[in-house]
Amino acid sequence: MNKWATGIFTSIDEGLGAGLDSVKELGVSTVHLRAPRSELRSKEKTAEIKEQFAESEIEISVVFLGFPDDDYSTTDVVKQTVGLVPKDRRERRLAETLDISGFAHGLGVDAIGMHLGFVPQDPTDPDFSAVVEVTRKVCDRCLEFGQHFHLETGQETASELLTFIDAVDRKNIAVNFDPANMILYGAGEPLAALDLVGRHVRSVHCKDAAKKRQAGQPWYEDAPLGEGDVDIRGFLLKLHDLGYEGPLTIEREYSPNQVGDIKKALQLLEDLRKEIRG
Ligand code: MG
Repeated sequence: MNKWATGIFTSIDEGLGAGLDSVKELGVSTVHLRAPRSELRSKEKTAEIKEQFAESEIEISVVFLGFPDDDYSTTDVVKQTVGLVPKDRRERRLAETLDISGFAHGLGVDAIGMHLGFVPQDPTDPDFSAVVEVTRKVCDRCLEFGQHFHLETGQETASELLTFIDAVDRKNIAVNFDPANMILYGAGEPLAALDLVGRHVRSVHCKDAAKKRQAGQPWYEDAPLGEGDVDIRGFLLKLHDLGYEGPLTIEREYSPNQVGDIKKALQLLEDLRKEIRG
């Protein structure tokens, strides 16, 4: 895979993403794949999906998890419903996460990633330790498959994330850095956050977001790359300084013109890559 190959976040069944046909149309060579629902994760289906991507010469670099009952309507609801943090869903979702690690392994993918949810900020909170424990279970399963477990940024500040990563204390825990999420969740300035967690970054989402919300605009709505408040050039310069050479994966979630926006984003990243890396 080329250094800084541009890719997109996609799904093959439902939910957010550009879809396999769009991936082909856009001509990208690498994707983050949202894990499909369980019926599509059987051994047979996994082999089919692997074949489809291989035929199209598209590499899957990370399999991302979400759950059908995740609810992003408000950040308070996110706290109650998203990731492995909500107590009432934790065990069931742990089982599904371990299953998806196996699915990713079946596809030959060496990383899974997710929003873990809002980890308690206070490391002495008993639930902090409980979330550390469940995260270790995921890391340990991933390690059996030679995988890393990537935590999506945004639901905590960079220093809280570092505290959590240190507490988990597993060599295969890593960060998927999403600069727009830092803005959307109000978790700090993206580039300053990258300075802190940079050494853990194994994948990124090239996503943008505007601090200023339009009337009636949902809190989670992102912006076309380069049109929000993420300094994309500064972001890539920092990744370059960090020695990051993995894919630049565009994530464009809420847009009436998703494919058009992604095309523009691909061009922007191409231009910046030429400028920065020559
Ligand atoms: Mg993201």
